[in-house]
Amino acid sequence: MIGAGHAGRLESDYIECSAHWCLGQTKTTMLMEKTLFEKIADREIPSDIVYEDELVVAFKDIDPKAPVHILIVPRKPIPRLAEAEPVDHSVLGHILLKAAEIAKTQGLEDSGFRLVINNGPNAGEAVPHLHCHILGGREMQWPPG
Ligand code: AMP
Repeated sequence: MIGAGHAGRLESDYIECSAHWCLGQTKTTMLMEKTLFEKIADREIPSDIVYEDELVVAFKDIDPKAPVHILIVPRKPIPRLAEAEPVDHSVLGHILLKAAEIAKTQGLEDSGFRLVINNGPNAGEAVPHLHCHILGGREMQWPPG
């Protein structure tokens, strides 16, 4: 499934159009509404982007929970980790590798950092577009709240 608001549709119903996903067979078909993080990736909503490539975008969290708080998101609007599919294997690995690189560029190599992916209501997921939090710059508590 593509995500919230697209009930009953399968990913096979969609084709990739530029940076977002469309329903139908051709690039002339109607565009689906973008997620908040797609709009950030497409510069439709301002944000402080610290890294991007063809698969992911990373930007500073608007409401930081640590001195360093960056979100790394796939350009593909996978709603959440539990809805990722085998075809997403590469991008999921890419997110982790790039998260570690970004943590290093943010000066967290020696002090350490935490990666968080909230999945679903009990975890506090607020934005239905898969994102990995990169947190650092202070000592973290365990277990997490
Ligand atoms: P989650 O609770 O895991 O879904 O995390 C969503 C995160 O997105 C929160 O940490 C928010 O502060 C962050 N967020 C929401 N809107 C924006 C925005 N416009 N720019 C950057 N971060 C945002």
